[in-house]
Amino acid sequence: MITTADIQAFQARKTPFYHYDLKQLRALAIKVQNEARSRNYHVHYALKANARPEVLDVFVNQGFGADCVSGAEVRAALEAGFASNHIAFAGVGKTDDEIDLAIEQDIFTLNVESIEELEVISSRAVSRGKTARIALRLNPDVDANTHRYITTGLEENKFGISGWQIAEVMDLLRSLKGIELTGLHFHIGSQIQNLEPFRNLCGRINHFQQVFSDHGFHIQHINAGGGLGVNYDQPDELQAQDFEEFFSTFDQLLELRPGQELHFELGRALVAHCGDLISRALYVKRGQKTDFLILDAGMTELIRPALYQAFHSIQNLSNSESKELHKYDVVGPVCESSDSFGKAVLLPECRRGDLIAIRMTGAYGESMASNYNLRQLETPYFRG
Ligand SMILES: *Cc1c(COP(=O)(O)O)cnc(C)c1O
Repeated sequence: MITTADIQAFQARKTPFYHYDLKQLRALAIKVQNEARSRNYHVHYALKANARPEVLDVFVNQGFGADCVSGAEVRAALEAGFASNHIAFAGVGKTDDEIDLAIEQDIFTLNVESIEELEVISSRAVSRGKTARIALRLNPDVDANTHRYITTGLEENKFGISGWQIAEVMDLLRSLKGIELTGLHFHIGSQIQNLEPFRNLCGRINHFQQVFSDHGFHIQHINAGGGLGVNYDQPDELQAQDFEEFFSTFDQLLELRPGQELHFELGRALVAHCGDLISRALYVKRGQKTDFLILDAGMTELIRPALYQAFHSIQNLSNSESKELHKYDVVGPVCESSDSFGKAVLLPECRRGDLIAIRMTGAYGESMASNYNLRQLETPYFRG
């Protein structure tokens, strides 16, 4: 949420910067945690969506676990105060150093994505005289119906272990030392906007559970991953009820075994709403068909539109009253034609110096920023 007081404070600041509403984030985190706890579910926050210490603090205080995809994220999670036995670590390309860190810190699980990785984890644990807790990340071959760059649960994707490899994995699990299989892990993609893929996922998890129990493996936890989408059209509406529907889908369709825990790893749905990218209009450049609104923020601050053709709502904070709308191609200053936030965007008239907000950029915004063109973000503005 952006208030009038926020806009006043923005005026005195250099742009571009991220604005975070920590009060709103805290309220959502509490709601989600209540919803999860009422079902005895465990939610890990996926750090890669936004690893700002102030954001991590909210999730630590509300008792979330952490979901990490690099050794640096595992370290950031530990520094932020997440308990090591609440940290899950996934990724197709874990380095030896990253594996060693996870083993030494005794994290909740290394989510193993290949047979090759399983062998490396085993040998590194054995040489340290330790046992690594692992979960197998299985590729369920479920279509997430999302942008193809953020689909992860199809056979053609690089993630996870496929069904045809399971017999070999089971043999290895019986023979390898230094590993303890504790869970089965799934994560089928991101920005999943209806529950159908999750319903299909439940069916696949039930199937895999049966295969493992038929072969005498005891599975302590299921980790169903993240991927719950948000409605980027409605930056001012917090849809806490989406979490309720999401959890109850699993409630209804997933067949948990007695004593088995169910874990989730949510990123986007938790933090997308709490952030906005605040920029200034540098120029309104006349075009033949559409004028260009050239901002001082670009793909270096927010790459989602350039990378995934993602939509973000754009607002002129300096001229929000005017009912008369003009059409603009809203672009950044970076030397790439993909450096665009939207074509033919209808906005109240924009003038040089106006504050322009790109909304709902709390997830995969600042965490994906780069300094291409040697560009530099200003420090964020926090509310609450
Ligand atoms: C990125 C990621 C998540 C979080 O995905 P969201 O779409 O942000 O909820 C969860 N688990 C794994 C393994 C991931 O890589």
